[in-house]
Amino acid sequence: MNAAPNPLRCWFVTGSQHLYGAETLRQVADQSRAIAEQLDASPELSLKIDWKPVLTDADAIRRVMLDANADDSCAGIVIWMHTFSPAKMWIAGFDALRKPLLHLHTQANVDLPWAAIDMDFMNLNQAAHGDREIGYIQTRLGIARKTVVGHVSNPRVLARVGAWQRAASGAAAMRSLRVARFGDNMRDVAVTEGDKVEAQLQFGVSVNTYAVNDLVEAVDAVEPGDIADLVTEYLDAYSVAPELLPGNERHESLRYGARLEAGLRRFLSAGGFGAFTTNFEDLGGLRQLPGLAVQRLMADGYGFGGEGDWKTSIMVHTLKAMGASRPGGASFMEDYTYDLGAEPSLILGAHMLEVCPSIAAGRPSLEIHPLSIGSREDPVRLVFDASPGPAVVIGIADIGDRFRFVANQVEVVAPPAPLPNLPVARAVWQPAPSLEISAECWLEAGGPHHTVLAASVGIEDLSDLAEILGTELLLIDRATTTRAFANELRWNRAYFRLAQGLSG
Ligand code: MN
Repeated sequence: MNAAPNPLRCWFVTGSQHLYGAETLRQVADQSRAIAEQLDASPELSLKIDWKPVLTDADAIRRVMLDANADDSCAGIVIWMHTFSPAKMWIAGFDALRKPLLHLHTQANVDLPWAAIDMDFMNLNQAAHGDREIGYIQTRLGIARKTVVGHVSNPRVLARVGAWQRAASGAAAMRSLRVARFGDNMRDVAVTEGDKVEAQLQFGVSVNTYAVNDLVEAVDAVEPGDIADLVTEYLDAYSVAPELLPGNERHESLRYGARLEAGLRRFLSAGGFGAFTTNFEDLGGLRQLPGLAVQRLMADGYGFGGEGDWKTSIMVHTLKAMGASRPGGASFMEDYTYDLGAEPSLILGAHMLEVCPSIAAGRPSLEIHPLSIGSREDPVRLVFDASPGPAVVIGIADIGDRFRFVANQVEVVAPPAPLPNLPVARAVWQPAPSLEISAECWLEAGGPHHTVLAASVGIEDLSDLAEILGTELLLIDRATTTRAFANELRWNRAYFRLAQGLSG
């Protein structure tokens, strides 16, 4: 799924005005095209750049913004004022724009040719004040955007534009996402609940429930040939426990796991779903809680949340879209237990079954073990350790009047010792700045126990996503202190309530 070329594009729009005359405008066009080409050539950028003709009047500006809104392949717009573009011309366009916006404050040249500078040069290269004019009107209109300053040959500039493109891809993935919930939320659990109407308005996600027996029907209809094909794939991709091998005593359980996968795939693809949830309390005629099937579907880009957790399912899918083609993966995750004696202290995360093999350090092992919960047959599952390296953990909570993202910068580490008795996939990580400060902040923020662990997405990508969506993000990173975090919580309460205005 991740191998397909990304159909999304990013538009590059340059502002100017008629005042300069045809010759200067031709130079502006040539140089802006050169800047767009440099961006386009950077491996830091995941989306192709579409250069647009230089804009010099209000009608053309508004038309480009309306076209961007109408074009599903346009993930966002980068704007740059190479020259001076009087910003009242931009009011109608910005007012109409509904796509993510990045203001790139750059210029054609890196160094100034001091000895050669004349007034022609000054007239052509005046982004230093042209972009200030456009910054003013964006701020005056309250336009959400990312501002990046520097030359496009600077790797830091490219990385920052790249992060924004990832976020724009995530927002686009959300806009077209349909989530299938099999059953409702786990009974009495609070944090997995939420306002699905608000989610559709804010994120564009449609979330609906299907009877689990609709899924059972799809699972029962799977042809033996499809099961055989999947079993062949399993034998090729994983270290399969001997008892599950063809001819051995528990092979039938593996075949049922394959049947579950084929049925789930058929149901999801027929309905155009990109994410789903299950609930072990509501399995209807399913003989196993889906484990292996969920793990493999996540590896193909599907979002997933356990216990009816549709919000985390959305985030899994979104982060997978954002991190596509980057090394490292993203998985549904749950904080389970702590190693407080380790220096620094560690978190051991896992779930009953459903951890995505995209984060696996090595070849997963395909096993079968009893599940103490859910009163069904023993489920098959992939078991592995997560790959060490930098990662982020992000959770989403509905705190009543809005959604809140809580994120933590972490370092996934190898388990300090083997875990021969733990029959599920797991990740061990050091949260920044320390387990104590991270968990104190997370608890104060009301962050959930279900999260997404992503090695393919960075902190800046998440910040940009939150900005694009207009959603609160509380970030716990190396610089976080509990006192500053407590103040941020206080200020955010006021800010987000004021910012959402009056409705309903
Ligand atoms: Mn759970």
